[in-house]
Amino acid sequence: WEHSSLSICVLGASGDLAKKKIFPALFALYYEGLLPPNVQFYGYARTKMSDEAFREMIGGTLACRIDARERCGEAQEKFLQRCFYQAGSYDQAAGFSALSVRMASQEAVLPRANRIFFLSIPPNVFLDAAGNAADVASSRTGWTRVIVEKPFGRDAASSRELADGLSRHLSEDQIYRIDHYLGKELIENLTVLRFSNSVFEPLWSRQHIRNVQVIFSEDFGTEGRGGYFDRYGIIRDVIQNHLLQILALFAMEQPVSLDAEDIRNEKVKVLRSMKVVGPEDVVVGQYRARGKLPGYLDDDTVPKGSLTPTFAAVAMFIDNARWDGVPFLLKAGKALHRRYAEIRVQFRHVPGNLYRSKQGSNLDAHTNELVIRIQPQEAIYLKINNKVPGLGLRLDTSRLDLQYNTAYQQAALPDAYERLLLDVVQGDKRLFIRADELEAAWSLYTPLLHSLERQKVAPELYPYGSRGPVGAHYLAAKYGVRWGDLNEEEDE
Ligand code: NAP
Repeated sequence: WEHSSLSICVLGASGDLAKKKIFPALFALYYEGLLPPNVQFYGYARTKMSDEAFREMIGGTLACRIDARERCGEAQEKFLQRCFYQAGSYDQAAGFSALSVRMASQEAVLPRANRIFFLSIPPNVFLDAAGNAADVASSRTGWTRVIVEKPFGRDAASSRELADGLSRHLSEDQIYRIDHYLGKELIENLTVLRFSNSVFEPLWSRQHIRNVQVIFSEDFGTEGRGGYFDRYGIIRDVIQNHLLQILALFAMEQPVSLDAEDIRNEKVKVLRSMKVVGPEDVVVGQYRARGKLPGYLDDDTVPKGSLTPTFAAVAMFIDNARWDGVPFLLKAGKALHRRYAEIRVQFRHVPGNLYRSKQGSNLDAHTNELVIRIQPQEAIYLKINNKVPGLGLRLDTSRLDLQYNTAYQQAALPDAYERLLLDVVQGDKRLFIRADELEAAWSLYTPLLHSLERQKVAPELYPYGSRGPVGAHYLAAKYGVRWGDLNEEEDE
């Protein structure tokens, strides 16, 4: 970076994501000294704003972690001095050309200029903006990279259309498709846990694992922002991307190396081994009002009578030697009783268990279960059977417990966007979705999504703040599974 500058531009800088996530993440990287010395930040959107007004807008959201509070104010000031704003439309070259001129004036002192564009805009302006950024505002002396946020289309065909559109202006190695779940600490740790501990990898197959559950639960609804959500629904918004990505990382074979292409090759392979999801393996739900808590259809931005699911549970299967017959259950929902995301691995019963008679009748409750809590309160714990201390022989279920907040007290966990933005600066594509991965992911869900829409399947209603539709239990029971999260709550 000695001879290079870096310009990072957020398109859609007047929006929510830019304010809440992207600029705070850029600031965190900046004050930790992880960005090159010659870095400048730009906001671009249609809203008219001066540099000063822009700095004021983002200044309010920049926070320092506890360990860096002392130099926080000074760092914020320095960061904001490097922030500039350019107003312009997404579908016309003029604004991008003005942006490029402004970038060039800051870059002029060094021979190489590198540029990153973050597309934080709605899908209807994706292609115009990406095209103009690439054609009019690309760097002439260094690299140009473009970060794209979901949604990557609504189904296989629209995703392909988007991919083709982007490929007319950018090469695949310039495109960074973000799935912010892949930037979460515990997801990055998933492969470390599995491939660097000899106690896990030998158990990672149908021989020892009965089922795997990936669960995402939010305790709030759309709260007046249902307009965007309604066009997508929970399957497109969470399951087909975030949860499926986690599943691919969980179930893939060991990659040849930690190189991005080696990892992504394995993910594509396992995605292509998965069975296309059929309507018999899905339960969809929608939250309704409870007391003062509004139902989904009470959100004014949601069309009347919408059938869009705010909850879904899906059973998936992988047709390969490692996973043949193992149910992978994915569940995601809004307006549920708690907010959390976790992976649960339920192991098989102990064959010929000596202690069967000491464990009570619910054998499922006594099989080992590995829980990886992605958020909040990151943790990894393994439920084991243990002798209750004292005379006599009584067994109960106990935990080998790694709680991040106690085990890693010093370490403030970075936000997913920090990790991902740093990876883009460093050109590391391990945590980004490759075009063929995306295609494989859509091919698994497109027939189901089309069939739900064509047949106008009515979602099962569940009350705001509940545990979701009862149908999810029947789906799990069909495969001899009990949801581990609900089981655990009963125990507690
Ligand atoms: P947003 O606030 O709705 O939009 C960002 C900016 O885009 C707005 O400030 C607006 O800027 C411009 N814009 C909005 N509607 C437009 C339209 N119809 N035509 C042209 N420009 C329009 O969205 P956001 O929450 O910041 O999210 C940005 C993108 O990331 C979205 O496309 C969303 O799909 C995706 N995303 C968001 C989240 C999240 O947590 N918010 C999570 C994942 C993905 P100007 O009017 O000033 O141009």
